[in-house]
Amino acid sequence: MSQENDFRIIIIDDNTTIHQNFIKILTAKEVPPALDILEREILGNSEKAENFIFPTFQIDTASQGEQGIERIKTGLANGKPYALAFVALPLSAGRNGIETIKHIWKLDPNIQVVIYTAASNSSWEATIKQLGIRDNLLILKKPFDTVSIQLIVSALTRKWQLMQETKVCSDSLEESIQERLRSLHTALSLIRATLESSADGILVINNDGKIIDYNKQFVDMWKIPQLMVESKNFELLLNYMINQLKSGHGFEDMIKEANDKDDKIINGLYKFKDKRIFECYTQPQKLDDHIIGRVWSFRDVTKRISLEEKLQKQATHDALTGLPNRILLRDRIQQAILRAERTGSNFGILFFDLDHFKLVNDSLSHQAGDKLLKKISKHLLSAFRAKDTVARLGGDEFILLIEDLDKNKSMVSIVRKLKNIFKEPYKIAKRDIYVTASMGVSLYPQDGKTVNQLLRNADLAMYRSKELGSDQFHFYKRGMNKLASVRLKQEIELMRAIENEEFFLTYQPQFDLISRKMVSIEALIRWEHPQKATVLPKDFIPLAEETGFIVPIGDWVLRTACQQNKDWQNMGLPAMRISVNVASSQLKQPDFVEKIKSILRETGLKAKYLEIEVTENVITANPEVVEVIKNVRKIGVEISLDDFGTGNSSLGYLKKVQFDRLKIDKSFVNSIDFNRENQVIMQAIIDMAQSLNYQVLAEGVENKKQLAFLINKNCQIAQGYYLAKPMTAPELETLLKEKGTEAPVLEK
Ligand code: C2E
Ligand code: MG
Ligand code: MG
Repeated sequence: MSQENDFRIIIIDDNTTIHQNFIKILTAKEVPPALDILEREILGNSEKAENFIFPTFQIDTASQGEQGIERIKTGLANGKPYALAFVALPLSAGRNGIETIKHIWKLDPNIQVVIYTAASNSSWEATIKQLGIRDNLLILKKPFDTVSIQLIVSALTRKWQLMQETKVCSDSLEESIQERLRSLHTALSLIRATLESSADGILVINNDGKIIDYNKQFVDMWKIPQLMVESKNFELLLNYMINQLKSGHGFEDMIKEANDKDDKIINGLYKFKDKRIFECYTQPQKLDDHIIGRVWSFRDVTKRISLEEKLQKQATHDALTGLPNRILLRDRIQQAILRAERTGSNFGILFFDLDHFKLVNDSLSHQAGDKLLKKISKHLLSAFRAKDTVARLGGDEFILLIEDLDKNKSMVSIVRKLKNIFKEPYKIAKRDIYVTASMGVSLYPQDGKTVNQLLRNADLAMYRSKELGSDQFHFYKRGMNKLASVRLKQEIELMRAIENEEFFLTYQPQFDLISRKMVSIEALIRWEHPQKATVLPKDFIPLAEETGFIVPIGDWVLRTACQQNKDWQNMGLPAMRISVNVASSQLKQPDFVEKIKSILRETGLKAKYLEIEVTENVITANPEVVEVIKNVRKIGVEISLDDFGTGNSSLGYLKKVQFDRLKIDKSFVNSIDFNRENQVIMQAIIDMAQSLNYQVLAEGVENKKQLAFLINKNCQIAQGYYLAKPMTAPELETLLKEKGTEAPVLEK
């Protein structure tokens, strides 16, 4: 029985007896002793020889060349090729033997072929010539010897087997090589894709300075000509790259460092002449722990850096003026302290705050205020050296940091310079705006050794200036501290009061002494302080005037008083004037008249029911308000001269401005009781006022005697606690509803 893996042998011979003979020889059960001996002789007395097993064969026969070819074909097709073919020469029938063999090898070049012939004298030269010398061709000569045949067959089939095995082996080797190649290819294409998909420009250089690899991004970023990268010459490339940088030195240093310390990772930031900024990063390329080159990567960080710079600028500069802000200023002062410590020099801080800046905002507009701040900032920058710091702390507060002070450059000279730049008016919204500033100076080291101390003390000195009025300048002195902190607290409180609308109005009636009826009401402001009892005007109006807060407060009073008066009229209560106190800074607003007009329009109150109270001092200190008063009167609003008699000026202005009435200050009325001299003055005032056609109102009437005196002297109007105290709107309403306009004390 043949085995699956038996060698297959085919005998092609037209002599069937020979078929049988071969089969007999080749299917011998045991190794014939002769073969065994021969094996030993050939292979030596080795174990292999001992273990020699004669292979088993599957033998097929064919009596014609075609038949043999067919079988070989089928065998190949079934994956069971023949190892060996015995081919008789010549073949008497059909195709001749030589043709048959050629055909067989065409089909299967590995098959071992043994040719033989029955004729002993035949010449093999011709046969060899036709078939060629091959290593799978053997000629068996007559006479046939059993052992030779067995030996030949055994050797040839083994050889065939070895060849088969080698082929399998080389096939699998080939396959694994192909596989490796494929995966290498995949890896390479992955690396390339990764390289190309990177937003960074990448360049790989070997230890000999040759360009090994790069991506397109690299070429594009550095605008490198194709020829240059193809040259593979890194040195050439480097020169080309350095030429594009703003300062090539940094990059050259980096390259030098990379060359010196070949195992180091290095990075740096480089600016291009065309304003781009690249971040460069380089690391060694290693192969089995050996450095074989360097990878350079370049990233365009222009956007990131410019954003960072912008953010940095935003964080350290004032958005409106572009001047350094508090953060940068503090840093500069800190640096100045360090420098001054090192060199033994000194420096100064000039803190200044624009006077009445709020007025510009309130009376013109915020845009106008912003414009003014910008203009001033520009002016400051051009007036001072680049090494001096001009900073804006916010609002209308600025700081000058002046270093290296000496005899020629003192802070006094700086103050002078600052005052000089404010000499000319600023043109804003077609108006000339004169600017002054309250200034305070602190000096290093005597006024403070830290940023905080220096800033605080300059601030305190500035506050001292503010307190004394506008356009002042003070050096810091010990003790300013306490004074200013109280004021600061009050200012903050006042500001909060405006925001929280903590104010309310009280109303004090004024009575006509002839008709004995209530003819007007004075609106008097109160501050409902969240922690304290109601605050009276004397405790906050002066501060409001200094700080400029009086403008928004005054606007509110005017509007509220007009609205209230109109509401009373709408309720059917007797129509009368409402009298409102206005401060000088209110009157100085360029649009004051317009403001009054629009308030009257919005509340619906007729102009004749509004009266403005102006103090004597306002007119003498600000002659320009004379025009304003005239214009206010023109629209039908009445004007009273308040606190008459307390001013220390001549009465000349009384001829220049037309008022509707004079309000004799309560200090005169008070003294009627005991001061004869004042009685004379009162009499004189009343006479003078009447000669000028003014009505006279006496304020602060506290008793019967005073009232009697006034009536006797023909004073027309009176106001005072004795007649009626200031009261809230509902209280006044009740009074009017219950008692009408009559004053009980005036009843005859
Ligand atoms: P003023 O305009 O002379 O107002 C009269 C002041 O005298 C009021 O004080 C009033 O309450 C007080 N008074 C009235 N009758 C008597 C009296 O019989 N005896 C005494 N001793 N005092 C009397 P008030 O309300 O404290 O106001 C004080 C000052 O504050 C006012 O003086 C005025 O100059 C100012 N003021 C009040 N409200 C406002 C306002 O809305 N705006 C401005 N700018 N100033 C205001
Ligand atoms: Mg008044
Ligand atoms: Mg008064």
